[in-house]
Amino acid sequence: MNDSEKTLPPLTPGTLYLVATPIGNLEDITLRALRVLKECDVVAAEDTRRTGQLLKHFGLSKPMISYFQFNEARRSEEILERLQRGEKIALVTDAGSPGISDPGERVVRAARLAGLRVESVPGPCALVAALTASGLPTDEFHFIGFLPHKSGQRRKRLEALKAFEGTLVLYESPYRIEKLLGELSEVFVGRTIVMARELTKKFEEFFRGTPVELLELLQKRSLKGEFVVMIGPAEELVEEGEFERQDQN
Ligand code: SAM
Repeated sequence: MNDSEKTLPPLTPGTLYLVATPIGNLEDITLRALRVLKECDVVAAEDTRRTGQLLKHFGLSKPMISYFQFNEARRSEEILERLQRGEKIALVTDAGSPGISDPGERVVRAARLAGLRVESVPGPCALVAALTASGLPTDEFHFIGFLPHKSGQRRKRLEALKAFEGTLVLYESPYRIEKLLGELSEVFVGRTIVMARELTKKFEEFFRGTPVELLELLQKRSLKGEFVVMIGPAEELVEEGEFERQDQN
């Protein structure tokens, strides 16, 4: 143990730590995240195999329990019981900040309602990384996360979002990104779209243009990977033909 580690307070028993992990670039892990992962009693992970690899990369080894969308209810109870016994639990999802469009919300709510301690160990989050680097207004934004899968429901949600005055931020899977841009080209005609792909990774890219321009790009160049799609406010109108791939070098 070095001098700076000696002065750090120990983790608090009976606390649920929400540990943010890299969204691509492993250098983005924080010193605090590493210490919590090292000193906790157990790691509750969305995918134990994936988190196991992360722990291994940083030379850590910990007992793990799985906590994912389809066992959230049952596992939440177990996590609460463990916290009540005084365990220190680190909750980790596949990438980014637990609870933002991934499991976490339910167990946090249950822990709070039971009067248990919850601490955030902040770090990477695709929403923040994309929005802050987009060039779109950041003073007022609305985070939607993933749209519903069904076409009718998606359309209804998008129509309802049209009236919002700030920047809209959506997560989308690579399988539905083309569908999303098709929908935006009908609902958000002429609005500025910024699409962030593969944030923090080697092939990170930002694109700015109208929905039609970005749709054409996707039809020409099959883009894989992870995406955050942002819709600028109505006054950020772009002219057709202003499309640009924003240089990352
Ligand atoms: N909790 C995570 C966070 O803090 O951002 C988000 C989890 S959600 C299940 C995964 C979605 O986040 C992806 O489908 C994509 O929309 C977005 N995402 C995650 N990593 C990304 C990256 N490196 N580049 C672009 N989008 C990313």
